[in-house]
Amino acid sequence: MDSSDFISKSRKITCREAESMIPRYLAGSLSDKDLAAFLNHVNNCNKCHDELETNFMVDLTVQYLNEEDPHGSFNLKPMLQKDLNEKTAALVHKHRMKKLRVVIFVLILLLAALLILDLTDVFGISEVIADLFRSAGF
Ligand SMILES: [Zn+2]
Repeated sequence: MDSSDFISKSRKITCREAESMIPRYLAGSLSDKDLAAFLNHVNNCNKCHDELETNFMVDLTVQYLNEEDPHGSFNLKPMLQKDLNEKTAALVHKHRMKKLRVVIFVLILLLAALLILDLTDVFGISEVIADLFRSAGF
């Protein structure tokens, strides 16, 4: 399974919604859920991708003009693609960590359950392990 699958499976939004999210996308203030829906939409909608491109350009131009030393390349398309890629990667990473946290949480619960069972002698796992070691000749 592609790790960015959850983006393509995210909530479907309309062009209007996507457009209304552009300022928050540029400011980096979309929630994870909205960001996933937004990325999914602009990946599949040329109209909104173009709209994002225009807004991204304006945003960058303002930043560029505010810079004291406005030199260097100013190549919009790769910059937008980089921004989209970075935000996608960050979201995928966050999603993965969330999954990992769930796995660790479940493991801890299992260990705690085993420990409680062991301590209450309902299921003496330490006895079982000790028996195993004994029968293995330790
Ligand atoms: Zn659209």
